[in-house]
Amino acid sequence: MTSLPDATLPDLTRYDAVLFDLDGVLTPTADLHMHAWRTMFEQLFAQWEIEPPYADQDYFDHLDGKKRYDGVAALLRSRDVEIPWGDPADDPSVDTVCGIGNRKNTVFSAVLEAEGIAAYPGSLALLDALDAAGVPVAVVSSSKNAGDVLDAAGIRGRFPVIVDGLLAERDHLPSKPAPDVFLAGARLLGVSPARSAAVEDALSGVASAAAGGFGLVVGVDRGAGAATLAAAGAHIVVDDLAELVGPASR
Ligand SMILES: [Mg+2]
Repeated sequence: MTSLPDATLPDLTRYDAVLFDLDGVLTPTADLHMHAWRTMFEQLFAQWEIEPPYADQDYFDHLDGKKRYDGVAALLRSRDVEIPWGDPADDPSVDTVCGIGNRKNTVFSAVLEAEGIAAYPGSLALLDALDAAGVPVAVVSSSKNAGDVLDAAGIRGRFPVIVDGLLAERDHLPSKPAPDVFLAGARLLGVSPARSAAVEDALSGVASAAAGGFGLVVGVDRGAGAATLAAAGAHIVVDDLAELVGPASR
């Protein structure tokens, strides 16, 4: 707990529903994305005899926090490699910036299937406590891979409502920080946002839930920082969701 003493932590079972972001809240998906980038670029650099070889620092210097294609272009530029931008519709086998970006997604799916992913134990404990209390839960993720990640983590069946990147695209919902995806989740659950809680680890996600008027916005600090999450609209910030598992169910 970073901002409030334990005694003041809210009881999430008192809310009509709890809506969870996925990547970084329920599953440590960032590690998998890092792994997928590394696998793909190690292969590509070997094939094209690019030096120096890919290193994990490249992820932080060129890829982290950037849109996928911009990251590919930046990393290649750091090795003095210029290739055509191409088109987002490019096949993953095509040697363009977009094709290579799409290849990363293919590798991500393969890595996910080969290695699986385990949900954060603290997040599972909170889901168990909410389930025991009969509080409905939903996933609200920007990712088009959300279903695959939930399957790999073995927790898809826990969520009667999943708002993911595919649904957002289909229904033309603007992405976080706009409130639309969280509001869609509440609507599908049939609950009032003001009587529900939302849990997020990203600044844009916290801002989205806050703009949606959720009764409680929980920030999970996986690196964004408690102060910045609070400034974005989080009512409380925790380091791990286990902190929100009530004494009765602990
Ligand atoms: Mg997230």
